[in-house]
Amino acid sequence: MSDALEVLNPATGETVATVPAATRDDVDAAVTRAAAAQRTWAAAAPADRARLLRRFAAAVDAHNEELARLEVLEAGHTIGNARWEAANVRDLLDYAAGGVERLTGRQIPVPGGIDVTFLEPLGVIGVIAPWNFPMPIAAWGLAPALAAGNAVILKPAEATPLTALRLAELALDAGLPEHLLQVLPGRGDTAGDALVEHPGIAKIVFTGSTRTGKQIMAKCADRVKPVTLELGGKSPNIVFADADLEAAAAAAPMSFLDNTGQDCCARTRILVQRTVHDRFLDLLAPLVEGVAVGDPADEKTQMGPLISQAQLDRVRSYVTDDLTAVRGTAPDGPGFWYPPTLVTGADPTAPVAVEEVFGPVAVVLPFDDEDDAVRLANATEYGLSGSLWTRDVGRALRVSRAVAAGNLSVNSHSSVRYWTPFGGYKQSGLGRELGPDALTAFTETKNVFISTEA
Ligand code: NAD
Repeated sequence: MSDALEVLNPATGETVATVPAATRDDVDAAVTRAAAAQRTWAAAAPADRARLLRRFAAAVDAHNEELARLEVLEAGHTIGNARWEAANVRDLLDYAAGGVERLTGRQIPVPGGIDVTFLEPLGVIGVIAPWNFPMPIAAWGLAPALAAGNAVILKPAEATPLTALRLAELALDAGLPEHLLQVLPGRGDTAGDALVEHPGIAKIVFTGSTRTGKQIMAKCADRVKPVTLELGGKSPNIVFADADLEAAAAAAPMSFLDNTGQDCCARTRILVQRTVHDRFLDLLAPLVEGVAVGDPADEKTQMGPLISQAQLDRVRSYVTDDLTAVRGTAPDGPGFWYPPTLVTGADPTAPVAVEEVFGPVAVVLPFDDEDDAVRLANATEYGLSGSLWTRDVGRALRVSRAVAAGNLSVNSHSSVRYWTPFGGYKQSGLGRELGPDALTAFTETKNVFISTEA
């Protein structure tokens, strides 16, 4: 009997679908089909490719509610978030479509002729996605890759294949060529690994854990295969004494509780200047306790369940009995529930303070001055995002430049925008996605010299 993936509803623990898992042979056949589709796609007029991508975007938009409901079912996302995520796929496709006719090379002055560069598509791109934001993260890869003239094989995470499969159907309905975008649900160590190892895959776009990212990078190095890695995070939220403390406290809960903390940018290290530490905690604690946790399909819910029993066990293992915690509420019973939790008084080097928990847990740590804040902010192996709260513009810029992370926000917890670059420092990743250069990352630059003297 062939292998199958069981998709669970995280809010109830019930099975909602069983999906066949792709084998290595399935990957091989998909790569052959994709290569043929890519040649035709790359030869099509740019305006035609752009038009088809816009139609794909419109199809996603027309099915926003259906896609959102599917994401609530398989990932336990709140319905409000899930609608935003489906809309984000639409926006990513529209934005990428706008780049197709603008993907130009350069003309460089040389003696004896002219020199031009072409941005050639790479070929077939393998996108390996995680379960925490199945739709947006898949689209971060597939939208610019398709726009730049590539074919895409997307391997969604084991737990969340349903929205990815539906997106592939919508692409076909919108008129994208058959086999240009293929979705292969499967296991990481078979289908995922087969994509990484396959000589017909020109680039791997991986989002997931740092551990798996390192393995993939090593395999890509062996083949000199380009790879983009979007990995874990343990991002600081630095609150200086001169900040608007009420505003900083009001924004802090959802900066680490959104998506039940299963967010690589979650601001899970709340660093507070010692002189205002206790006051800030007094403001923050009731807000964390008051977050509405429950049925993700309920419009009023702010936080749903964790994705799986394994994730629940992992989160529990970090909040050990010796730690002092402020806790919100969560439903009992079936499903993978954990309450919003603030850990106070922890050692700054404790696992809960430096490792990615990937759940609704933040630590609150005091600091003395600006240098101490920067030192503490940088004291993890990660460097994905961070926020800082201050009324001093000079300090905002100094600290933004000093924190070793790819995405900083001042007096806000800005979320990821499809039109600005995103990626990590240190062990949070390699390369950048999104933003004005997103399509270029899916091209190879070719230089051609034409003699005028022959
Ligand atoms: P994971 O690394 O276990 O899996 C991610 C994907 O890789 C899945 O599709 C999985 O099947 C596949 N995979 C697993 N082993 C593989 C292998 N040997 N070869 C090829 N593919 C393989 O991560 P996860 O648990 O699904 O996701 C959570 C992690 O993702 C967190 O650490 C989080 O921080 C990270 N994440 C990072 C970003 C970012 O942009 N930096 C965004 C979202 C999630």
